[in-house]
Amino acid sequence: MTRIDLHCHSTASDGTLTPAELMTAGAAAGLDIMAITDHDTTGGWAAATAARPEGLALVRGAELSCRWFGAEPTIPLHMLAYLFDPTEPQLAAELARVRVDRESRAEQIVERLRADGVPITWPEVHDYAAGGSVGRPHIAQALIRAGLVHTTNEAFASRWLGARYFVPKADIDVFEAVRLVREAGGVPVFAHPKATSRGRVVPDQLIVELAAAGLFGLEADHEDHTPEQRREVRALAERLGLVVTGSSDFHGTHKTVQLGAFLTAPSAYEKIVATATGVPVLG
Ligand code: AMP
Ligand code: FE
Ligand code: FE
Ligand code: ZN
Repeated sequence: MTRIDLHCHSTASDGTLTPAELMTAGAAAGLDIMAITDHDTTGGWAAATAARPEGLALVRGAELSCRWFGAEPTIPLHMLAYLFDPTEPQLAAELARVRVDRESRAEQIVERLRADGVPITWPEVHDYAAGGSVGRPHIAQALIRAGLVHTTNEAFASRWLGARYFVPKADIDVFEAVRLVREAGGVPVFAHPKATSRGRVVPDQLIVELAAAGLFGLEADHEDHTPEQRREVRALAERLGLVVTGSSDFHGTHKTVQLGAFLTAPSAYEKIVATATGVPVLG
């Protein structure tokens, strides 16, 4: 059986394995094909490419921080983007804008925590991000170091990063994201679209509209979806002619899920590859 995991994070964002270590771990987990999908960056692509083991095909991608402005309050969502041209200027500019905002946003969160006497610093958090896309898991790491919580998950509770010290980030309008990814020759797949455990989710009608605007697929098999939610995603994808994916959303030790915990069917993968024109699969 071909084992395909299309959603994995490295230290280029909030994973804990370097891109090179991620490649080695993918091979060790028995994957045949894996995607590197760091938040709002292609910064891990080169190192992953250089370290790719024989026998492991690499799909270069990213996970875009998006927002739907059609609800009040607006709803954040994640868009996986595969095999796009990273030099396409408009998409690259949007990603850079989000990454820069991630820095000031993380600094604001740290300031709020410090104002309440929490002994962590922005340089410490910045250091954990190691030059990659900074995110709340890096602040969680500082909270763990300071002995205030034991796990990343605990740091996302409402008394910490989940609500009390929450600051939104400068996400990309989701329709703009779909358009830019397509223009860069990439393939957009909506990540964990019905994961109510992560917060509010968008209505099916938005997914209908996104499909008309160029959305290519929906991630169904994901640890944050219940079996019922996975069925709903599959049914919706079938109705709209979208491909269905499954993936681990591996984050190293920032999450408990392991590589290959959920997989994508070869037929769906082949449709993604056949549609992409930005960069090729490696291997
Ligand atoms: P940010 O992108 O900075 O808003 O942080 C969100 C990231 O934190 C997502 O990529 C998730 O992978 C991670 N995350 C969200 N909720 C949790 C949680 N409860 N436990 C661990 N990681 C989480
Ligand atoms: Fe993440
Ligand atoms: Fe995500
Ligand atoms: Zn992810």
